[in-house]
Amino acid sequence: MDCLFCKIIAGEIPSEKVYEDGNVLAFKDINPQAPVHILVIPKTHIESADKITENNNSEVGAVFAAIPKIAAESGLTNGYRVVTNVGEDGCQSVKHLHFHILGGAKLGEKMA
Ligand code: AMP
Ligand code: ZN
Repeated sequence: MDCLFCKIIAGEIPSEKVYEDGNVLAFKDINPQAPVHILVIPKTHIESADKITENNNSEVGAVFAAIPKIAAESGLTNGYRVVTNVGEDGCQSVKHLHFHILGGAKLGEKMA
């Protein structure tokens, strides 16, 4: 499958890993939009949040169980934002479900 993040999971494309377990990988965003900008992905290919179902939501649960650990390890003691873009209107550029962790500074109040 021609998926950038599946290639990162497979180690075919390098990434700056910050967390990994059996179900989840997290790595630094190549184009950071905050002092801390990490992408957290399930190791299973799910296209976007719009494709989460009863059959694959445990993968998403694993991602959310990892997020507090990643945040703590990244020093995000004063809060952070978790964002996922979906599809064309959501400006999703990589079609493998990913959650942006943004923090390290007071973020803008606007969500869009
Ligand atoms: P989105 O626009 O929500 O689909 O987010 C995709 C994110 O992936 C963007 O923030 C990109 O900067 C990031 N990105 C693209 N290629 C890479 C890569 N090879 N390593 C790390 N982050 C990447
Ligand atoms: Zn993928």
